[in-house]
Amino acid sequence: MGYQVTLIPGDGIGPEVTAAARTVADAAGVSIDWTIVDAGEKAIETRGTPLPDDVLESIRRTKVALKGPITTPIGGGFRSVNVALRQRLDLYASVRPARAIAGEGTRFPETDLIVVREATEGLYSGVESWGDPEHSRAETMAIVTRKASERICRFAFELARREHRRKVTGVHKANIMKNTGGLFQAVFREVAAKYPDIPADERLVDNMCMQLVKKPDEYDVIVTTNLFGDILSDLCAGLAGGLGIAPGALYGESLAVFEPVHGSAPKYAGLDKADPVAEILCLELLYRHLGEREAAERVYRAVWATVAEKKVVTYDLALPGYTSRPVPASTCSAMAREIARQIPNVDLDAPRPRPPRLSAAPPVQDESLAS
Ligand code: NAD
Repeated sequence: MGYQVTLIPGDGIGPEVTAAARTVADAAGVSIDWTIVDAGEKAIETRGTPLPDDVLESIRRTKVALKGPITTPIGGGFRSVNVALRQRLDLYASVRPARAIAGEGTRFPETDLIVVREATEGLYSGVESWGDPEHSRAETMAIVTRKASERICRFAFELARREHRRKVTGVHKANIMKNTGGLFQAVFREVAAKYPDIPADERLVDNMCMQLVKKPDEYDVIVTTNLFGDILSDLCAGLAGGLGIAPGALYGESLAVFEPVHGSAPKYAGLDKADPVAEILCLELLYRHLGEREAAERVYRAVWATVAEKKVVTYDLALPGYTSRPVPASTCSAMAREIARQIPNVDLDAPRPRPPRLSAAPPVQDESLAS
């Protein structure tokens, strides 16, 4: 019997990119029994609710899920299924690596960042109200607790230690939001003091955005509250090559859900056009979580080889890259098949491909098969 894993195909491009991840999973040789459940728009059509109980029950049972993006109506309609899932399953740590792949689709080939985002509170607490009957005043409550700040900061330092990263940067806006930002800042400093082996610094979120665009290679692990983490992880994905290549993971005490940074990109739904790499790298993170290190490494290296060869890549990676020319764009499913084809050919003894380091700071130790 294989691993029990919940699969949520999601909305928009979700079914296409999760199918692409399954194509690669079939080639990677780890036996998985998928339990497929619907959340989002399809669940509303068939079940009358965007988050049926069996979705939560399935994840609680299997403890691991691979998820596609889910649409959230803008400015009204039902609450975000993504936010609800994180809160109801207490998936507090959203980990979003942003790593350039072979310099393609980016002007910042050295980008190698990890955003660690608190995912259960902050401005996404869901506590919203109207300040008057005319709806001329709107209120959203930011909730920051010592408990949640402590566990996310600890998570970031533990990750930095485990993966031999160079430093952790705490990001907040404590000059203006003196209570919520101030509490997060104070807790970050307390936690940092318990990890004297890991350099730590702090940035105000506005300055952090500017610094990242000017010199992304000077940063490494970034830990922050919910909204800032959401915004910074899109920024970091853009530096690395775009939303099409940025995977993500949500960790709780005993559950883990793997979902890309990107959303459902409705304009590309059904066109077989979206980049499958983000979802396929979610599969890599899922394998690492399961302890399937060789399969994880094969997926990582097969993705890198496919992007670097640039023969079968989707539109976002077919653009002129850091070192190469534009090429004709392939489809989502063709790129997935190419990555799957590369899996058995991966040379695990070759040096692990990774972005170049430009700054004088010592390089990150290669986590490779040792992680
Ligand atoms: P989006 O990430 O869906 O798309 C923004 C743009 O990024 C797209 O138009 C496209 O140009 C590009 N893009 C995204 N994914 C890509 C891929 N795999 N390959 C190539 N290009 C890709 O963001 P949006 O348009 O702001 O949001 C659309 C919907 O997705 C909204 O309903 C939003 O709430 C939802 N959303 C869901 C999640 C999630 O499920 N975790 C995350 C973000 C947004």
